[in-house]
Amino acid sequence: MKNYIIKDEWNIIEEGFDASLGKISESIFSIGNGKMGQRANFEEQYSGDSFQGSYVAGIYYPDKTRVGWWKNGYPAFSHKVINATNWIGLNIDVNGEALDLGRVNVTEFHRMLNMKEGYLKRTFIAELNTGIRVKITATRFCSIVDKEAGTICYEITPLNLATSLKISVYLDGDVKNEDANYDEKFWIERAKKTFQQGALLTMETKRTGFWLTTAMQYAMQIDGEIIVAKEKQILDEKFVAQEVDVILEPEQTLRIYKYAVNLSSENYPKELMENHAQQILQKIVKKGYDQLKIEQAAAWKNKWEESDVLIEGDIAAQQAIRFNIFQLYQTYTGEDARLNIGPKGFTGEKYGGVTYWDTEAYCLPFYLATANQQVARNLLIYRYKHLEKAYENARMLGFSNGAALYPMVTIDGTECHNEWEITFEELHRNGAIAFAIYNYIRYTGEHSYLEQYGLEVLVGIARFWAQRVSWSAAKQQYMLLGITGPNEYENNVNNNWYTNTIAVWCLKYAREAIIYVKESNPDRYEDIAKKLDFREDELSCWKAIEENMYYPEDQKLGIFLQQDGYLDKEQILVKNLPLSERPLNQKWSWDRILRSCFIKQADVLQGLYFFEERYSDEVIRRNYDFYEARTVHESSLSPCVHAILAAKLGDEKRAYEFYLRTARLDLDDYNNDTEDGLHITSMAGSWMSIVEGFAGLRVRENTLHFKPFIPEGWQSYTFRIRFRNTIFQVKVSKHEISITNQSSEERDVLVHNKHVKVPAYGTFKGELVGCQQIV
Ligand code: BGC
Repeated sequence: MKNYIIKDEWNIIEEGFDASLGKISESIFSIGNGKMGQRANFEEQYSGDSFQGSYVAGIYYPDKTRVGWWKNGYPAFSHKVINATNWIGLNIDVNGEALDLGRVNVTEFHRMLNMKEGYLKRTFIAELNTGIRVKITATRFCSIVDKEAGTICYEITPLNLATSLKISVYLDGDVKNEDANYDEKFWIERAKKTFQQGALLTMETKRTGFWLTTAMQYAMQIDGEIIVAKEKQILDEKFVAQEVDVILEPEQTLRIYKYAVNLSSENYPKELMENHAQQILQKIVKKGYDQLKIEQAAAWKNKWEESDVLIEGDIAAQQAIRFNIFQLYQTYTGEDARLNIGPKGFTGEKYGGVTYWDTEAYCLPFYLATANQQVARNLLIYRYKHLEKAYENARMLGFSNGAALYPMVTIDGTECHNEWEITFEELHRNGAIAFAIYNYIRYTGEHSYLEQYGLEVLVGIARFWAQRVSWSAAKQQYMLLGITGPNEYENNVNNNWYTNTIAVWCLKYAREAIIYVKESNPDRYEDIAKKLDFREDELSCWKAIEENMYYPEDQKLGIFLQQDGYLDKEQILVKNLPLSERPLNQKWSWDRILRSCFIKQADVLQGLYFFEERYSDEVIRRNYDFYEARTVHESSLSPCVHAILAAKLGDEKRAYEFYLRTARLDLDDYNNDTEDGLHITSMAGSWMSIVEGFAGLRVRENTLHFKPFIPEGWQSYTFRIRFRNTIFQVKVSKHEISITNQSSEERDVLVHNKHVKVPAYGTFKGELVGCQQIV
């Protein structure tokens, strides 16, 4: 755990240069706009430890699978989001010596991610070995208005001596992935050129044939006066640059603006990419840096108006939630249903592909409530588009036609995971995808989604479960054997309670969806049934499974069992585990982990979270107490589920602790792995902890329910949610909840199970406990 990020409401701040924190900061200070993203690498060259990362959404490479022992069914390739052309590069030589923070004396280093306005700024003073001192201020952002553009303003001021600078403004396509399986470079060069004060480089991915055209232009000023220096063009392999020499007197400031655009062949015909790149570049240059920055701030202002969570009285919590929301919106903005949310977003390469069950189980609720409906809808359509591949994936594993198994990890629908105990056994992902359809419809009320897209997905998933279960003649019940639940510290178990539960839920929901579509749109139903070759006698089989599923339980303890035999394990509690042995995944052998009772992440509790309406608080409490004591939370997805359940059960202190752990996971490098990239998907869990946990938001029967409390140290918290054409602002303070309705119609909501009316363009105020209206 680290504690070097300075607490501030709107900014992430680092003071002082500590090279040992470099890669962690590169992750934390990442910028992005949903279409491209950039780790906080320095613009100028750096010989210290660094992890270079520029990523462009939708461009991937099938890296050849690397495993010890091949198993039939493994995918031959693993798609990876790949490191792409470095567009930020700006090398500076000061009197013949490279400005390199690894080699010079650095003072007054200050780095700040301004989340309110969406930019990254770094200032420092470098004392070079020649004795020259220069002050640098570098500001950059990926525009969320012009989404293919990034821009930099880089200022150099010599402080003590006249300096002769050699500046190289470049694009470098000779990059590789840190996590390449065979140390292979994924790009080949297609085209390059230079033009006045600019250059262009087109790269192509091997095998997948994606093209990426990056074009850049720079402009320079000395003390505000535009200068045009004589240029030297450099055209090397996969590299283009413009080099210029500039002489500065002490205290004169050279300002270099660098504008860059990244165009992907996913969005343009290849033969037109250069033209488009030049046009978009010109548009950006014409706007100019200052205008782009103003537009950036305005666009972020709009985003914050819809999604901000304001916390009064706890700066660490305030900074954390804004950081989480900021990073989520830097990763996914939801206009393009081909894109999705990677666990590391654009901040690292770990987890290779893009989409995990994280999207449906964790991110969907955040986007449902903070963005327009189409954003969450696109997350669902992404999976609809991959249905053919999900059939193929199931077929590869021996299931018959019509069964759909969605991949554990994917970019384009192809399975990219290759550990048998996960690829073939961690099947609950199929359940989360079905649950997301349910959740979307529950939230938006858009039932027609079923007939348009949802039903086909649900039938494929139901068919999969119907084939995957086994009938136990001994127990006269159905079972799911050879399973890995969400808790990946147990593999190949029988009857993971969560998986059995969600499988049966999927069968039931698919049945209900069929009945619904059949009634509401018989013609469409006929079309779907024909397309899927669906026979209604399948329904009786699904129903038989629903009615005869086996669920492991322990009557004496009154709990659901994570899996058969879980209680045979030596029952040790996390509180008795020495801190020096944690995290287990870094300190223990895998064998020891598998034999232990310790739980990586919410598993039974994940099921109780999804399906809480079915269980009494008493049942939830018994399971929560039992499993929480054994959970090590070594997945970032875990604490938020525990936070929500703790809040539900009235354990406000624990709920707050879990919130903080989720929300500051990366800022405080809690799991010692922030340098690999941020935990983007679990950031949605931080938001859930506040909104579903502390405020107790639920949607039941088309109505919003709140059961709010306020963490002890907070004065108040305020958030906005969209719900069916209404934006609500909810403020919870020490003794009061106020709900403001920004629509033109009165709305009904429930607070602590009491119906209250929120007037059009008005506010309801009630006592926090008891909810007596305050007039
Ligand atoms: C978790 C998975 C999750 C993945 C990506 C793993 O550590 O166990 O549940 O999908 O990370 O976030």
